[in-house]
Amino acid sequence: MNGTLAIRSRLVAFPDGVREAAVLVRDNRIVEIAEYGARLSATTDTDLGELALLPGLVDTHVHVNEPGRTEWEGFASATRAALAGGVTTICDMPLNSLPVTTSAAALRDKLAAAAGQCAVDVAFWGGAVPGNLAEMAPLLEAGVVGFKCFLIDSGIPEFPPLSRAELRTAMKALAESGAAMIVHAEDPAEVHEPAGPGYDAFVASRPPVSERRAIETVVGAAAATGARAHVVHLAAAECAALIGAAKAAGIALSAETCPHYLFFAAEEVPAGHTEFKCCPPIRYAPNREALWRALTAGVIDCVVSDHSPSAPALKDLASGDFRTAWGGIASLQIGLPAVWTVARRRGLSLADVARWMSVFPASLAGLPAKGRIAVGCDADLVAFDPEASFEVRGAELRHRHPLTPYEGRTLTGRVARVWLRGTEVSPDDEPQGRLLRRGGGEIG
Ligand SMILES: [Zn+2]
Repeated sequence: MNGTLAIRSRLVAFPDGVREAAVLVRDNRIVEIAEYGARLSATTDTDLGELALLPGLVDTHVHVNEPGRTEWEGFASATRAALAGGVTTICDMPLNSLPVTTSAAALRDKLAAAAGQCAVDVAFWGGAVPGNLAEMAPLLEAGVVGFKCFLIDSGIPEFPPLSRAELRTAMKALAESGAAMIVHAEDPAEVHEPAGPGYDAFVASRPPVSERRAIETVVGAAAATGARAHVVHLAAAECAALIGAAKAAGIALSAETCPHYLFFAAEEVPAGHTEFKCCPPIRYAPNREALWRALTAGVIDCVVSDHSPSAPALKDLASGDFRTAWGGIASLQIGLPAVWTVARRRGLSLADVARWMSVFPASLAGLPAKGRIAVGCDADLVAFDPEASFEVRGAELRHRHPLTPYEGRTLTGRVARVWLRGTEVSPDDEPQGRLLRRGGGEIG
């Protein structure tokens, strides 16, 4: 952008609370936070009034799937959906693309696929799999923000899980860098074949104890290596006790949950509706309540989408069989209103939402200029109407495929305008997203 931009709002979501303010932007960055009515000499002066101003969301858990499975989701569609949903930075998962991002050469393929297509800024997780230890340093050097691994079958053969010993070895290799190992924490010894095709049988096949045992493994590895560990998509609220205790003991552990675990409950999943299938599963209403308490208490650190669509045929909607359907929920564009709809009802504030969906994810990915409305940060900003409500229609979303469990749900909160590094952008614009490395510099 040229010149300066002032944005004023009665409801600016700072990390420590919501208050009225004016945000002054110059050369892509926030340069001053002033009183709402302050005299500012800006080239453009925008008063949002009662529209809230949020830091752009940082979604550290997005499966873009390009190259290789672009028919599931790709950079063009995913980043436009992100932008429409107020997400100004995504971190791409190392699966389910082909190749998976487990080598520096595979990262180069990713970067080539993403170049010029991204409507928001994009960073990349590398993958830790058996046998790729020697690729971890080159991947970090090439710009990944950290590593993702599984402790259970990932669903695709190209991305096998680590054993307990391999997890420790990989985390030891990572310790000095400060980058996080993010872990899909389900223990295969506690997971079994579902007894039938229905949803209750599916939930029973992946019980809370499978998450608890796997998180014990992660806690052990973090304590033994000093490396930073992060539990992705926590679904079993009982694990909050274990996570809280590990944190209190000084172990470098954090955890995320996802909008679908906070919004839906197993009791509400209609028979045969496999668009609700994900792993670990959406559990029962008392668990959802306990997840909200753990999030409010700060034991769960953040909320990110785990946007993971597939080709519609793989969801097995015709049979409605939860045993064979692909597991993965599409929600990138609607995570913010889904979380806000419930948070608002619970008396929580937009500052809480910003902490969960912007501030913490930015720090997890090592992107210090992202996720906060603060002097020196990138001017990634979202004007958000906290009172507007709308009905979700999958066909109107920018996701590659319309299928989403939020179909027909009424959500509160609407993204009105988005600024990426100080420039107002919309999904149909020429894409202006950058590819980011850990630390925030551009890759390449
Ligand atoms: Zn995922």
